[in-house]
Amino acid sequence: MGRIKLIFWFSLGLTLVNFWVIYNYVFSSFTSNPSQSIEKCQPVSTPKKSSKEIQLNFNIMDIYRIDVSCDYIIRDLGSKISNEFVNKNKKCSASSLNLDLNTKIQNSLLNQKNDSYIPFLNKSVPFDPFDDNTQPEVLNNLQLGGLWKPKLHPDKECKLDDLDHVVFVVPFSRSRYDNLKLFLINMHSYLQSYQYSFSYRILVVEQIDMDSKFNKGRLINSAVKHLIESKENADCIVIHDVDLVPSAGGNKLGERGDYRCRKMPWHLSRKVFNLKMNHERIYNQFLTGGILSLRMDHFVRVNGFSNEYFGWGAEDDDFQIRMFNTKLCILRPDLGEKASFMMLPHDSSKASNSRFSYLSNALSRQKEDGLSNIIHLAEIKSLKYFKSFTHLQVLVKKINR
Ligand code: UDP
Ligand code: MN
Repeated sequence: MGRIKLIFWFSLGLTLVNFWVIYNYVFSSFTSNPSQSIEKCQPVSTPKKSSKEIQLNFNIMDIYRIDVSCDYIIRDLGSKISNEFVNKNKKCSASSLNLDLNTKIQNSLLNQKNDSYIPFLNKSVPFDPFDDNTQPEVLNNLQLGGLWKPKLHPDKECKLDDLDHVVFVVPFSRSRYDNLKLFLINMHSYLQSYQYSFSYRILVVEQIDMDSKFNKGRLINSAVKHLIESKENADCIVIHDVDLVPSAGGNKLGERGDYRCRKMPWHLSRKVFNLKMNHERIYNQFLTGGILSLRMDHFVRVNGFSNEYFGWGAEDDDFQIRMFNTKLCILRPDLGEKASFMMLPHDSSKASNSRFSYLSNALSRQKEDGLSNIIHLAEIKSLKYFKSFTHLQVLVKKINR
């Protein structure tokens, strides 16, 4: 008798569990729309491998148990949230801008099919970014410091303050001088001919003591600290390698070439055409290096970049772990048919050997290592306003690893 009772209760329990599973499955398939997924983003990150194991088979998923219920990490967005979080004030859109700006912009507004942006790739152009007398014509509309503010239509109720202000933060050292020339020419002509509903500045942050290895994290943190202190009202920062420029077909890039911040960090450069190798490459689905657009408050929330990575590699993976750990997901446009960005030729950097050991304890350092202690680790030596960019020179405390 007792046995029959047991079987009865066991079967009832099993049936209830089944119902629960089916209910959840059906329910979740109805509710997995984009905005909910963002709220649901609760990545869990606990180290599960030693640094030695990581070196053997490097994959961010292997290092941290990241719960990818955060759909966006690997999901293409299409046009679903394209304009949701772009302008602070929606009435200030492209139509609020003054169309008399210049013919280039006018053409792109009137005839979206024509591409007024065509990448310029001749590095022997007689342009020295550090000499304002050599500015090419395409940079004529800029204000000092590589600042661009769209002119607003006099009849529309729209103030410049209603537009997003985007600051491009570009880590740099002199070995990439040729890249910088082409970067500035291409970025300004792309941004001005195609994207017009935000103001922007290009801020180049240069490491001047190159006898110690390049430290991208310290440069970016120094640049953001400078922005905060100078009270420049940046809503959105775009962390941008100096060797990446938008591909041909600027107007056709649409969402894939749209730098404006979204609700969550927005990674634009998973697919890149490498000019030196003459081939296209799709990076792994967890890459956040290259070009990352994110809200200033999110950058502050993750405590910026780690300051510990010298030489090439893993500082971006560390940053990604920081984002997951503070409940930020990564959004991506779809890959599209052709790469939206091209990598300009440069010598490759030597990978750092210590990067994996830092990566394996990234989480434990997040609070103390970043924007919060950059003051002790790097010094801003100069701030100059050239015509096509703002130039910060930074001395990174010398360490050779
Ligand atoms: N960078 C630099 N000088 C260096 C190394 C890197 O200015 O010696 C900057 C530059 O903006 C570059 C970015 O850091 O685009 C990323 O480095 P790199 O191009 O070497 O990495 P990749 O993405 O090609 O692996
Ligand atoms: Mn590169």
